[in-house]
Amino acid sequence: VRRAEEGFLPHTSPRLLRFVRPGETGTSEALRTTTPTAPEVVRRRQEAHQGRAHGSRRLVLVASPGKGTLKWSQRWLPRSGLEVAIATDWQAVIDGVTELMPRVLVLDPRACEDFGPSTFAEIRALPGASDLPIVTLCSGGKDGRLALERGSTDIARKPLDWQILSHRLSLFARMRLSGDELEQTRVLLDEALDAVEDAQRRLRFESDFDHLTELPNRSRFENLVERALTASGAETQVAVIYVDLDRFKAINELVGRPEADQILQQVAIRLRNFVQMDVSLSRQGTGVGTAALSRLNGDEFALLLTHITGSRAVLGAANNLLRALAAPFTAGDRDVFLSATLGVSASDGDTENGELLLQHAELAMSEAKRQGGGVVRVFEQSMEPLTVERSADIHRMLGSALTDDDLSLHYQPIVETGTARIVAAEALLRWRHRDFGQLSPADFLPATEGTDLMLELGEWVMRTACTQLQQWRDSGLPDIRMAVNIASCQLRRSDLAALVQGVLTDTGLSPGLLELELSEKGVLRRDPAILEQLLKIKEMGVRLSLDDFGTGESSIGYLKQFPLDVLKIDRSYVSGLAKSKGDAGIAAAMVSMAHSLGLSVVAEGVEDGEQVDLLSSWSCDELQGFLFSPAVRGEEFRQMLESGPTASGAHQDSPL
Ligand code: C2E
Ligand code: CA
Ligand code: CA
Repeated sequence: VRRAEEGFLPHTSPRLLRFVRPGETGTSEALRTTTPTAPEVVRRRQEAHQGRAHGSRRLVLVASPGKGTLKWSQRWLPRSGLEVAIATDWQAVIDGVTELMPRVLVLDPRACEDFGPSTFAEIRALPGASDLPIVTLCSGGKDGRLALERGSTDIARKPLDWQILSHRLSLFARMRLSGDELEQTRVLLDEALDAVEDAQRRLRFESDFDHLTELPNRSRFENLVERALTASGAETQVAVIYVDLDRFKAINELVGRPEADQILQQVAIRLRNFVQMDVSLSRQGTGVGTAALSRLNGDEFALLLTHITGSRAVLGAANNLLRALAAPFTAGDRDVFLSATLGVSASDGDTENGELLLQHAELAMSEAKRQGGGVVRVFEQSMEPLTVERSADIHRMLGSALTDDDLSLHYQPIVETGTARIVAAEALLRWRHRDFGQLSPADFLPATEGTDLMLELGEWVMRTACTQLQQWRDSGLPDIRMAVNIASCQLRRSDLAALVQGVLTDTGLSPGLLELELSEKGVLRRDPAILEQLLKIKEMGVRLSLDDFGTGESSIGYLKQFPLDVLKIDRSYVSGLAKSKGDAGIAAAMVSMAHSLGLSVVAEGVEDGEQVDLLSSWSCDELQGFLFSPAVRGEEFRQMLESGPTASGAHQDSPL
């Protein structure tokens, strides 16, 4: 049968088949040269089976040995947007239907080995062809009727009107959606739904759990607390222990990020074990019931304890936890010792808010941190920070305090290590409030952060401090430096350089005696405008000092880009010096790294002789703290300057 066409289809598989896409012309020349390659056929078959081949939705298989039919079909059908495949004999018809899954079959009875009553049934028995539309080509009315009786979907009478035929074929192609294809679509849809569900599950996990430790994150934890609160009866309480690892940032820098992550994972495991061991142990006695855990963020974790009877049980658990964390962790091949600071808060009858309970525990933790860390504190109402209303109140009252002389500056000496000679004063704001008494700036400054009042206060502080120092100098006292704290909004929202210049001119103070303390948090940002201000100030000869070093995010390397003269080690590092070797190591490293950057180092919060010994052994340049003197009124400071720091009682035991 195919012999006649063999010249036509020179491919090694002469039965098959080429595609003519819309827009291509089906010349015999093209036919000879563009027979599809095997991979092309495979790809198309896969696409056809997956039911998403764009082309296959328009594919018509034309089965005929007639040259004219083949030629015209390739010329006309593409014009109706159809693709054409050709089969010249019966085997090719079977292969073509099976492999290409055409939309429509145009069948010339001459292409059949044996065109008979079962021909259509045979074709439709092929996979995926059960409802394949078949258009039979016929020469007379009788042929046509016969074909329709046997199962042909439609007939086309010769001589063929190709324009009408191709139009009809494209209708057939578009209308057909076989049962098979429906099934395939269903499978695809199922797969898609599975994928969506997977993604949702992953998202849920990510929004509920911490990646590194696989512990619930903060929001999930708050939920758990909330649920526990709802479930807790009148006799039992719910408690949260807030766990903050001490100086983890420094450890991070010391061992590197990957190792630090490992340590956090070990902490999580140890907390889990603790929960399983300790809590289930004490459940048998009295006290604590079930528990949940969370990594809140960074180096902060939390424990939820339920069915608590009495706060002693929680304190007991918290202290055990501190002990559990004291054993070394490993980073690479070295042991790392951690300490943690814990804040505890327990529900009372009307705590309903999980978030609040967690906040209280955090406040207690912060309070414990302020005392040097490494301990447990239980929340007390007095730790509650300013509420919005209170802060608005304070803001208003502080505004009038500025005009009513209720604000003052106190001065705390900074002494030279080794001689205890006063070399500088830090100006610290004090507010004597009619009702509340003496307030610390930590209580009222946050209420003004970012406001114009803060800018006003900042200007007043700088003017007052510089005027004071100039007065002392004028009365013949030795030259010391004056350190003034700068709030971040002063650098971001005002022309600090102009203010400094103005104050220096007005007071006549020499610039080298003024030192601006910039807090690591907030102030030192990679902001070109801030950097420009700092450089201007620096050019005047004013000294810049980095306050509270170790509490923010910056590494010493990061600091290189700022024109600093002094680094002040935060007092939380100083307070642990004698107690913890780890702290001592970190503080020692801070001093030497600062020195290598050419910075002078001040240790804050020095309270005892042991700290002085250690700090001086590392050549820390200057010291500040209650051991020498707290901040005192100007008059008192003047007396200290006249007689040396031993005039104040606190430091009588000082070894200096
Ligand atoms: P700071 O700059 O770190 O100031 C040192 C704080 O530590 C002062 O608290 C001081 O009284 C306290 N301190 C000094 N030695 C010791 C010690 O040996 N042990 C302990 N435990 N504490 C010690 P203060 O005066 O309450 O100031 C708190 C913060 O308020 C300051 O922290 C500073 O950031 C801010 N501040 C104070 N005055 C001003 C100001 O005029 N302007 C701005 N922007 N901030 C100010
Ligand atoms: Ca300061
Ligand atoms: Ca400080």
